[in-house]
Amino acid sequence: MKSYPAIFNQVLGPVTPGPSSSSTGGPGRIGLLCRDLLGEEPAHVRFEFPSTSSMRNSYMGMNTDKALISGLLGKKPPQENFPQAREEAKKAGLEVEFVFLDIDIPGDVQGIRAIMKGKNGFETTLVTNSTGGGTCVIQEIDGCLTDIKGDHYELLLFTGPASQEELERIAQAAKPMAKSLNAVNCLVGKKDVSIVELKTGEPWDEADIQKVKAIPGVKYIRVVNPVHPVVANISHKPPFETAEEMVAYGEAHNLNLFELAVAYESAMSGWGREGVLEHARFLWSVIKNSIEKGLSKESPLVGYIQTSATEMRDFVSTPQALDLGALNHAIYASQAVMEYSNSMGVIVCIPTGGSSGIVPGVLYGAGQAMGLDDEKMVEGLLAAGMIGAIMARETNFSGAWGCQAEVTSGCALATGGLIHLLGGTPQQCCDGASMSLQSLLGLVCDPIAGKVQVPCMARNVAAVATAMANANAVLGGFDVLVPFSEMITTMVRVGAEIRDLGHRCGTCMSPTGIRFAAESPEHQGE
Ligand code: SF4
Repeated sequence: MKSYPAIFNQVLGPVTPGPSSSSTGGPGRIGLLCRDLLGEEPAHVRFEFPSTSSMRNSYMGMNTDKALISGLLGKKPPQENFPQAREEAKKAGLEVEFVFLDIDIPGDVQGIRAIMKGKNGFETTLVTNSTGGGTCVIQEIDGCLTDIKGDHYELLLFTGPASQEELERIAQAAKPMAKSLNAVNCLVGKKDVSIVELKTGEPWDEADIQKVKAIPGVKYIRVVNPVHPVVANISHKPPFETAEEMVAYGEAHNLNLFELAVAYESAMSGWGREGVLEHARFLWSVIKNSIEKGLSKESPLVGYIQTSATEMRDFVSTPQALDLGALNHAIYASQAVMEYSNSMGVIVCIPTGGSSGIVPGVLYGAGQAMGLDDEKMVEGLLAAGMIGAIMARETNFSGAWGCQAEVTSGCALATGGLIHLLGGTPQQCCDGASMSLQSLLGLVCDPIAGKVQVPCMARNVAAVATAMANANAVLGGFDVLVPFSEMITTMVRVGAEIRDLGHRCGTCMSPTGIRFAAESPEHQGE
């Protein structure tokens, strides 16, 4: 089944406690999937990471530990008590270990092996990956290769050792009970577990689950619920895929970028126009809250830098400040989101946690300067999301491919969203996105001490300024020459070249970076 990115799955989300989509949001979802696959209350879980994993220096700083535990406890964002996840686990009688070993996890981006035991004694071992931007996959269950991404309802029928023919017989018997069946996989395991995997666009009725359970050869079943807002459905296809197709569709139907986003996401989700707008309004409410909370100084920042968003806001109205108009508001709003994210506050990753200040900052700044209301902010947000969905078809918003995959992408989204709010055409929005990809191409991922603070916050400020400058430049007639679609491909190519480079030579390797890393808890043991 061919899959297409959804704006609310791959671009405007996840909604998660900060600071990272791949190291906090993705692991939170992995924890939820692990819980469903265990099928009972967890009693003991050992998470094993490859010693070469980028999470080695960041699993505490980026709250991977708390996210995995919260998911295991069945908690979904925005959840209370996230900072106290370890204490919550103890209260629930759940023991959790985190260990780094010389192991290989195939397809390792941020691979994790989960060895789990439930309170009723069931045991299972899963191999998972946090694949960037809040996406994740369960790629192995007890030695049987799987492809569970949390974007379907899944019913898994477990057998003992079985042939392909035996699994196909079971699948044929189960299929009539499935509603909106998207895919059936008969997975012969290497050990004594084989699985029939039924992926559907609708949840299973309890009565049908019981009928499937009774099929001869089925030992036990597991129901796995989606962790993404938009559930994949084989009959849901987008009206366009590439930037060129989108512009042509807009011209043919007289649609601006916001209307194109509504048409796209309505088709992907099946929710209709009002359903899409309702979810976008929810996201804007989370963003607004993160700006307000970030400016309130209520939540202490966890890390090594001082908060400054409130001071930056107050400074711009003093005579010493250079009058940058909308940009001045955008910069402190962006910093407010990043600070709130780093205090474990709930944010919307756009498209990632590390870049979560850029689109909110640009929209907020434009809103302040232009007197725009919340509905206009929702328009700008969806327009930015549309640019991201075009990119997500080809690229993965993960710092594993350099900071350009996060901050540069966020800058391109913000530029497109802002050009729309300024009355630009979809072609101009794409040109703006191209200009921003050109402007900030090649950034490496090099956070100090595994925290999304330095240089991440500085880059959010730079991206906000770049997005606003580029929006005016394009609307003023700047010739970007290279089409948006070519710049996406270029960014992917550069990402393959610079992968991991930052961790060897970037800001984290400055003397200050090395010193702060040496003082961080991950390096000193818990
Ligand atoms: S340097 Fe960029 S990619 Fe790396 S953690 Fe910071 S924001 Fe994310």
